[in-house]
Amino acid sequence: MVQRCLDNLEDGRTSEIFVAQTCFASVSEFENNHIVALQEKRAHHKENPFINNTTAHVCHMCGRQCAAAIGLVSHLQSHKR
Ligand SMILES: [Zn+2]
Repeated sequence: MVQRCLDNLEDGRTSEIFVAQTCFASVSEFENNHIVALQEKRAHHKENPFINNTTAHVCHMCGRQCAAAIGLVSHLQSHKR
């Protein structure tokens, strides 16, 4: 995209419309790529929710993994009932 801009600048065919179209196309491409990357990241994260949590809190009674310590505390309350 940048090379296309430079080529047009060298040709002397610059115009506000061309610059606006180029900027719009670049921003649209960036946003589309960003959305796809976020969707892939979300899908990957949903497959393994503890991937970024190196210290998953594991229940010593049933082996359930909790993302946060407070979740484990709450879960342990269920064993007392
Ligand atoms: Zn448990």
